[in-house]
Amino acid sequence: MLKIAMYPGSFDPFTLGHLDIVNKSSKLFDWVYIVIAENHQKKRSYTPELMKSGIETVLKKNNISNCTVVISSSLSAVFAESKDIGFMIRGLRNGIDFTYEENMALINKLINPALESVYFRAEMPAVSSSMVKELLNYGQNILPYVPKEIADLICK
Ligand code: ADP
Repeated sequence: MLKIAMYPGSFDPFTLGHLDIVNKSSKLFDWVYIVIAENHQKKRSYTPELMKSGIETVLKKNNISNCTVVISSSLSAVFAESKDIGFMIRGLRNGIDFTYEENMALINKLINPALESVYFRAEMPAVSSSMVKELLNYGQNILPYVPKEIADLICK
């Protein structure tokens, strides 16, 4: 049976930390859905469509051919059911991420008992989308933290 996984997030914007997790996931799973979660209660800085096209360019550039980028406004555990996804990937930067993710995993298990949460450790634990936006506000170089293709989109 194919091992199909999903990696959901806001990706607002997609960072090198996210790319690290995508790289690791693409090696372990047959297919990975990168799911840009569209939540109308959360205000975004970049549209899901812009980020989708940016992530697709990053995947091509990195020769990652077993990942698809989708935009979804469904609950992740429900989205997983609709696509026969067995694994939910999350990245762990620190203990705060772990506590948060464990709560989410418990709730996801109640909604979709077939969905197994899988954690990958972060190689770039200091990188976050909000930090990138803050640095950009202060005119700092963000290239150490985001793929070049994403920087090209968001520095315009
Ligand atoms: P959220 O869903 O809270 O908006 P993000 O879109 O930033 O979060 O992240 C989606 C997933 O990627 C989460 O599991 C988060 O812990 C993980 N992640 C974020 N930044 C990094 C990083 N630098 N390294 C590894 N994983 C990360």
